[in-house]
Amino acid sequence: MSIMLFECHLTPEHTYMPTAEIITIGTELLLGETIDTNTRYIARSLRDAGVDLYRASTVGDNQERIARIIREGMERAEIIITTGGLGPTVDDPTRGAIALALGVETEFRPELWDQIQERFRRFGRTPTENNRRQAYVPQGALAIENEVGTAPAFICETDHHAIIALPGVPREMEFLMHGKIMPYLRERFDLRELIKSRVLHTSGVGESTIDARIGDLEEMSNPTVGMAAHAGQVDIRITAKAHSEEQADALIHEIEEQLRDRLGDWIYGADEDTLEGVVLAAMAEKKWRLAAVETSLGGQLLGRLAGKGESFVGGEIVSPPSDTSPEGLSRSVEKVCLAYRADVCLGVMLIPGETQQTMHLAIRTPQDMHKTTRTYGGPPQLAPLWTVNLSLDILRKYLVGS
Ligand code: AMP
Ligand code: MG
Repeated sequence: MSIMLFECHLTPEHTYMPTAEIITIGTELLLGETIDTNTRYIARSLRDAGVDLYRASTVGDNQERIARIIREGMERAEIIITTGGLGPTVDDPTRGAIALALGVETEFRPELWDQIQERFRRFGRTPTENNRRQAYVPQGALAIENEVGTAPAFICETDHHAIIALPGVPREMEFLMHGKIMPYLRERFDLRELIKSRVLHTSGVGESTIDARIGDLEEMSNPTVGMAAHAGQVDIRITAKAHSEEQADALIHEIEEQLRDRLGDWIYGADEDTLEGVVLAAMAEKKWRLAAVETSLGGQLLGRLAGKGESFVGGEIVSPPSDTSPEGLSRSVEKVCLAYRADVCLGVMLIPGETQQTMHLAIRTPQDMHKTTRTYGGPPQLAPLWTVNLSLDILRKYLVGS
């Protein structure tokens, strides 16, 4: 396979969208010693530019295996982005692997060697003979200077592909991806589409109930609607592909209206909103002071409320008393309400059980005391989180309704 340099810009009428694959390289990733954060960064950059990513894989520092995975990727995608394996040692195999995949040799680039030596000089160090390896790239590659590290990146172009090798160090990878690779991809593939997402948060309702109401919307292709369930909360993600931000916003807005119509006050917020944030904002609006008391939640309720604004005035963690009745909880709620001179006090007690957990909840409001008991049969380790979310949701609905 030959590499053509600078001659493969697609014609303007060529409007199809390229697809991409990410290949992260490093045996440490496969051994579970390093968490692969590069894929996430690159995936988001591609998403924001409207490039479809259908596959991401991780491979160890082995030249033949990397070459094979690159060749496979080239059968499916136009853009292949690798990270890692560009260091100065023999077990940094990416340069050789890409050359092998393309059927070319690597070649020494004196100007890259000058840049590397210059960078070392600036840091008061002397490059070793090993660092010379970093001045080799596959024949015909477009070398990309790495101003924040020593390993240069490079792009190999074929008629239909761009194979892009980036360093593994996240800071260097991000710098090059943002500053050099995305502009390159926009230009070469004439990228004009963008992808935008908005997440609606619901609580106090199960995934299957939501699914039954919005199943038809989940089958659409643009925007797409997808769900992700967490303990006591379900997120609904709307993702639109468009030629402009305004167009994407309009597409999202239309579906958001429909979702809000169908799901009503199960939706408590969007994007960065949190349940506790929504509760405390409603308290602040009423100029009310909130206190809380929790039992067997490991401090999770107070942890969620503390430090998020002046409406939360404090609370107590009470170890499980001998009296685990709802009345016992109501009494501690009254006490804490008085002690903190609060207008509203939220009391939550989790009672572990063999097959299911029981949650007592008491909310002291300026008018009266609301009590409720719920049971939870999911994974026991998620019970405190579920309980906290449910109690904040019940308080939220009380605040919205009052
Ligand atoms: P390399 O370019 O292979 O020499 O990688 C340099 C360093 O970057 C490694 O030691 C890792 O700590 C880090 N690294 C490599 N790949 C990744 C990745 N996919 N995600 C996060 N960190 C990585
Ligand atoms: Mg490595």
